[in-house]
Amino acid sequence: MTFTKIGEALDKISVLGTDYTVHFIPEGEETRLKDCDGFCDETTKEIVVENYKRGEMGSKGNLELQEQKNLRHEIIHAFLFESGLAENSEWAQNEEMVDWIAKQGPKLIKAWQEAGAL
Ligand SMILES: [Zn+2]
Repeated sequence: MTFTKIGEALDKISVLGTDYTVHFIPEGEETRLKDCDGFCDETTKEIVVENYKRGEMGSKGNLELQEQKNLRHEIIHAFLFESGLAENSEWAQNEEMVDWIAKQGPKLIKAWQEAGAL
């Protein structure tokens, strides 16, 4: 497998005190990416996000933004898993909610910073 990362990002992050490894892997090199763009495996403490092929027909223009959003999404899953919300919480498994936080998180952080709330 080819492990890469975005820029100078760490390949290990702390999720509520538990280390998770972060990997960007081309789809063809990771069978678990077959039907998804990323996943969080709380049993192995791994976050894997697809490193999209550049220059494909019909692909988005800025794939790094999409990969970053996917990474935020999987990190949110990791926080929920480590909070004990992996199996028995309906709202914590709601993909729409996880994706909303992943998409709006940067704007929330900016607004909180501007308001002095951080
Ligand atoms: Zn998800």
